[in-house]
Amino acid sequence: MKFGSVCSGPSKAGRPAIDLRGQRFGRLLVIERTANHARVDRPTWLCQCDCGAEVTLYGGALRSGRNKSCGCLRRDRAGQLYRKHGKSKTPEYVMFFDILPALKDGDSLALG
Ligand SMILES: [Zn+2]
Repeated sequence: MKFGSVCSGPSKAGRPAIDLRGQRFGRLLVIERTANHARVDRPTWLCQCDCGAEVTLYGGALRSGRNKSCGCLRRDRAGQLYRKHGKSKTPEYVMFFDILPALKDGDSLALG
């Protein structure tokens, strides 16, 4: 963890990002590479979901298949689970994205 380190310097050598542009992961189509999040030095990608929402995700999360939508897929499924179990919230819902903690102020990242 390197919180507080403002000077990130030039891009870290030796870890070129895999180009995921144009690739599709479930409902997500990768639009473009975004700047690494300041707090987590991992390549992130702007993706467009089939539902129209845009989300930014780690490349690793995409390639691992963990994230296949902006969250709508998970919400659909979760909604069914909630009904089944009669719960309004589960821990799973809170952590359903391996996503940036706070990419942009005011950008909810479609987490609702
Ligand atoms: Zn979606």
